Amino acid sequence: DINVQIEGVTKVFRSDEEGEIVAVNDLNIDIRRGEFLVFVGPSGCGKTTSLRMVAGLETPTEGRIMIEDEDVTGYDPRERGIAMVFQNYALYPHMTVKENMSFPLRIRNYPDDEIDERVDEAAELLEIDDLLDRKPSQLSGGQQQRVALGRAIVREPSVFLMDEPLSNLDAKLRVQMRTELNEIHKRVGKTTIYVTHDQAEAMTLGDRVVVLNEGELQQIGPPQYLYDNPVNRFVAGFIGEPPMNFLQVTIEETDGGYKAVGDFFEFELPDSVGSDLDEWDGSLDNVSLGVRPEDLSDLSVLDEDEYTENSTLEATVKVVEPMGSDKFLTLTPPTDSETEFSARVSPESTVSPDSSISLSANLEKIHLFD
Ligand code: ADP
Ligand code: MG
Repeated sequence: DINVQIEGVTKVFRSDEEGEIVAVNDLNIDIRRGEFLVFVGPSGCGKTTSLRMVAGLETPTEGRIMIEDEDVTGYDPRERGIAMVFQNYALYPHMTVKENMSFPLRIRNYPDDEIDERVDEAAELLEIDDLLDRKPSQLSGGQQQRVALGRAIVREPSVFLMDEPLSNLDAKLRVQMRTELNEIHKRVGKTTIYVTHDQAEAMTLGDRVVVLNEGELQQIGPPQYLYDNPVNRFVAGFIGEPPMNFLQVTIEETDGGYKAVGDFFEFELPDSVGSDLDEWDGSLDNVSLGVRPEDLSDLSVLDEDEYTENSTLEATVKVVEPMGSDKFLTLTPPTDSETEFSARVSPESTVSPDSSISLSANLEKIHLFD
């Protein structure tokens, strides 16, 4: 059951200084009813522009927007059955919470009893029913955020659009609101399109995540799927914190398989990774081998049956950061002090800076990119 369709949508801005800017390039996405879809990508990649085109605040240069199977491309924002929540909550300071939440219904001339009913219902849902008589200045950042959400909910839109709604909150509150948004979305059950530059927010909130770069869709899928199966180096490097390491290798054929040969290691590739190479387009002499920090382990704390000979590498330890549940290591190859990579090893590891360490890579979890 598809709720919103973004069909071949392109947006070109023209400015005197910079000429043409392709903010969004041929975007195609079907958004399911009730889905929480997150757009994520670096600043300037076209997230806000994409959302504004769904909202009707920006007109696509090409393509169309469908909501409830209706082509709404030429429609006003008010005719689209959407509600938008912005990063600055834009609450009216002189109005109480109740007046703020009533406002969108009041200007649409809803009868008083229906306004009261909807506001009470939304306030209960958001657990702000005891704040209705306060002014915004008497609320915490998180409470203001909930009022802003409430003002969107009372309109009972079919789609919620949110542009970095948590970015004005401090780090701790942001994490807390993330959990709350998750719960609120489950209770409200409405289609939500959410924009953020923060991959952690995307991972925790999204049923599916759209990774954008330079106006182009890189990959769309459930967060864990993107994490495990990034289609290219951009997605691999953007999703996951700390980011994936990329090590330069050449690929050589062996008896019935492949090996990756780097400056300071040689890995026999398991079939699951090697099979990617059967349809490889690029050069095999200059390949990026991606390995996440948590997929590199300290050999000295592994049992012998927990690694294979051809998965090991030596490195020099530069920095050791104990994180409680693991130790985060900044490493360099033994022969090259310029290239850095990182590992998250067991807290039992006894490494110290300026020493050398033997590591084992989980070869099933490595990725190859051209
Ligand atoms: P994001 O929200 O991902 O940071 P935006 O959608 O705001 O990115 O912007 C995408 C690109 O389009 C950027 O290069 C930005 O400078 C450009 N852009 C956005 N809005 C306008 C505009 N009104 N006029 C000209 N260029 C714009
Ligand atoms: Mg933006």
